[in-house]
Amino acid sequence: MRLEVLGSSSAGNATLVDGGDALVLVDAGLSTRQISLRMEALGYHLADLDAVLITHEHGDHVSALRVMMKKHPIPVHANKKTFGGFDSSIIPTKNEFSTGSSFYVSSLHITAFPVSHGAADPVGFFFNDGEEKALVATDSGQATKELLKHAKGCQTYVIESNYDTEMLMDGSYPFFLKQKISGPFGHMSNDDCGMLLVDSIEDNDPRVILAHLSKDNNTPQKALETVNGFLERTGKKARVEVCSR
Ligand SMILES: [Zn+2]
Ligand SMILES: [Zn+2]
Repeated sequence: MRLEVLGSSSAGNATLVDGGDALVLVDAGLSTRQISLRMEALGYHLADLDAVLITHEHGDHVSALRVMMKKHPIPVHANKKTFGGFDSSIIPTKNEFSTGSSFYVSSLHITAFPVSHGAADPVGFFFNDGEEKALVATDSGQATKELLKHAKGCQTYVIESNYDTEMLMDGSYPFFLKQKISGPFGHMSNDDCGMLLVDSIEDNDPRVILAHLSKDNNTPQKALETVNGFLERTGKKARVEVCSR
């Protein structure tokens, strides 16, 4: 299974998953043009997508849909509250799933599990193509037990490493915003991410892509150093990279 993060920040999120005989996009928060260009650079075409999966209704996860659906009416999968949280009347084919349930796109088995974030009914996605397992989880203020369960022993992780705790706390954000970001319905810090990976990684040298980094409260170097520090101290091995666009 191949996962590629096309973009991941509060400015826009989209991750490509090529597994089984399916090609799916998790979130569509960049412009349709950027999604298309970044797919082409990896040898894929927007028109080849079998489905778009939406984690939650925030603009940085759905903003491309209006334009994308006009050109390419790809089926969109989300839960009822997420479809209800933005103007989803623009989507011709809506496939509704319930949080906690599994479904197939072609032969790719997908589970939508609950995460902890200030949105209507936010989820992460777990993929199994029969050979490999992969996880996409961003926008979660804490690791839910369902997140921990699905993170066990994956071959690929796209996981949120949003902020460095010191940078957030010493930074210029107002106090209420610092509380919100670091609270149970906010985002995962570099430390949270490191601890989750220590709990989850098994002896298969997985690929880890750190995602949804804050531009103001984190740097790619800090995220990498912190997460690698957790892994080194516990003897866990992984190929960690960071998505900084
Ligand atoms: Zn987000
Ligand atoms: Zn969000």
